[in-house]
Amino acid sequence: MGRVVARLDVPAFSALKTFDPPPGAIAGLEVTGAGRHGKFLDIEIGGSAEGAAGASGALHLVTHLSRAGWLQWRDKLPPAPPKPGRGPIAARLHLDDGSGFDLTEQGTQKRLALYLVRAVTDVPGISRLGPDALDPALTAERLGELLTAHGGQLKGALTDQTMIAGVGNAYSDEILHVAKLSPFKPAGRLSEAELSRLHAALVTTLRDAVERSIGQKAATLKAEKRSGLRVHARTGLPCPVCGDTVREVSFASRSMQYCPTCQTGGQLLADRRMSKLLK
Ligand SMILES: [Zn+2]
Repeated sequence: MGRVVARLDVPAFSALKTFDPPPGAIAGLEVTGAGRHGKFLDIEIGGSAEGAAGASGALHLVTHLSRAGWLQWRDKLPPAPPKPGRGPIAARLHLDDGSGFDLTEQGTQKRLALYLVRAVTDVPGISRLGPDALDPALTAERLGELLTAHGGQLKGALTDQTMIAGVGNAYSDEILHVAKLSPFKPAGRLSEAELSRLHAALVTTLRDAVERSIGQKAATLKAEKRSGLRVHARTGLPCPVCGDTVREVSFASRSMQYCPTCQTGGQLLADRRMSKLLK
């Protein structure tokens, strides 16, 4: 914040989902804010000195990194624009002191999305977001109301960003394990005790994950995330709480992990229930 944008290069044309304002509109404007909406990162550019939300004239550079995207900060960026349509760089933001960042995405499935908008609610994925999972206004009681209104099964409800924002596949597995609840439990039929366990698990699991990631370099971030996981991506390994074997339910390209002893009264879950959940 406080630096002025020199230029925005977008070598991956398809990553930029908006055309008005154009990328050139932020050149010469100051970075006045940074925030997050669910899984979207939001950089406010050209706002008032106080950085007040909704300041008139401010633009927002918003990105969703999806599964394979990274934001890589660089103290010294190469001044030449990256070649379009080649390599992992989706976008490059140059600041006035030569520093800046690359948005990169490896692989052939390009899902990273970039938006330049006048209001963050112009990004369709943001306007549909439910309350943030770490918003203090999201009490156990409110969570219960949202789950009841949503219906379906717990795993599907927790990862639906329109119900609450910020819980993905990995941390929903973790939260349900901490709360000792089955991923297939009906979302609207939790007892008061179960709801209070789920709410506490949601808050502590996400806070802990955020704290452990602070200060991590890109190279160590994924290993740090993995080392803190109890069931997610640990199929066949012992549950750290009870020693039972962590099991997996999978359907198509999706999978989830759970501990039968901790979460389902020892019952093994069938893949066909996963297919129902994803419908
Ligand atoms: Zn267990």
